[in-house]
Amino acid sequence: MTEQTSKNDILFARAQQTTPGGVNSPVRAFRSVGGTPRFITRAEGPYFWDADGKRYIDYIGSWGPAIVGHAHPQVIKAVQDAAANGLSFGAPTEGEIEIAEEICRLVPSIEQVRLVSSGTEATMSALRLARGATGRDKIVKFEGCYHGHADSLLVKAGSGLLTFGNPTSAGVPEDFVKHTLVLDYNNIPQLEDAFASMGDTIACVIVEAVAGNMNLIRATPEFLRRMRELCTEYGAVLIFDEVMSGFRVGLGGAQELYGITPDLTALGKVIGGGLPVAAFGGRAELMEKMAPVGPVYQAGTLSGNPVAVAAGMTTLKLVQEAGFYDKLSAQTAKLVAGLTAAAKEAGVAFCGDAVGGMFGMYFSHHIPSTYGQMMAGDKERFNRFFHGMLDEGVYFAPAMFEAGFVSAAHDDAVIEETVAAARRVFARIA
Ligand code: PLP
Repeated sequence: MTEQTSKNDILFARAQQTTPGGVNSPVRAFRSVGGTPRFITRAEGPYFWDADGKRYIDYIGSWGPAIVGHAHPQVIKAVQDAAANGLSFGAPTEGEIEIAEEICRLVPSIEQVRLVSSGTEATMSALRLARGATGRDKIVKFEGCYHGHADSLLVKAGSGLLTFGNPTSAGVPEDFVKHTLVLDYNNIPQLEDAFASMGDTIACVIVEAVAGNMNLIRATPEFLRRMRELCTEYGAVLIFDEVMSGFRVGLGGAQELYGITPDLTALGKVIGGGLPVAAFGGRAELMEKMAPVGPVYQAGTLSGNPVAVAAGMTTLKLVQEAGFYDKLSAQTAKLVAGLTAAAKEAGVAFCGDAVGGMFGMYFSHHIPSTYGQMMAGDKERFNRFFHGMLDEGVYFAPAMFEAGFVSAAHDDAVIEETVAAARRVFARIA
């Protein structure tokens, strides 16, 4: 089927009539890589199929949630059973208690948790809580970390220390972001300077401890340790945004991996199992500042939705099966090793990294540790790789700046098929 007669093209043209850019979330639009987005009709295990009936091995996994593979029978059954009892009540359910108890048990820094419907809501509410609890306005974030699209978090990276950010998006008033300080990821002296000069006005530091929105970049253990010390010393709230890394890099998230206890944690993606559930939680003494017990307001018509909670709870049970993360990590490492070897054979500058079920692919000689280093990768070659793999039936994230996701359904045969395709594509783009 040619591009011209593809149903994807027809659907994309139609979508653009009624939806800005034809998509409901910008990265789906292939703006970075060019070409026509694929319109997905169904998904199962490690695969999805587009409107032309073409099958792809899927490495975005709905950008994280599909950790047990698409349409897992137990998740589907839980959703069907819950739906049969009604879709939404606007009154509490036992299911909400169960998933809260499960999250608190699995992530020890979380003593109390509030369910919301998106990662954006989780980080936005955590920020409000941090400001409400400290009575301070300033927040610290890091270049390249994405925390959803709340106004004060949509701030472009500043070029240097103490540069207050410019809004990344039109429509965000300067006044809203003047309290947002953007620092370099993994830069300890810069963080120390920021606290030394204005530590008693900083409400919180928010960080992706394993960053997944500037490709995959690990925080160094020293960076996070120092961050924890400074927050404690100056009375600022440390927020780990684990919307992506939670239940993805391991059962206890990045905080377990690094052995660092944040004050608040934002979760999403996996805890909804593909339906809209996210959460923020932390020390009870902080969480009790939330309405209705405390003065910090936050609410949601569909928060703790019974069908979504059923999908999330079932997914959280499945990831606790014996050896789940060992196998997931091994498969992800196998993929990265296979891609790296295939690139080497073809003489393409490439390296990769993986943490749990998350991976990064870099068209450069070294694994980056900052946003700047990641941006220096060979974007043009990535784009050719992306399209080559897409033609081969392998769907990677359509931008060099994104991490990839492996699910429990990506068995050896799927990984081998991917690597074989990569061998052909690397040879073509060398
Ligand atoms: N925080 C992180 C680390 C994310 O990766 C994302 C989404 O990709 C968000 C927050 C926002 O989550 P949502 O898209 O559910 O609003």
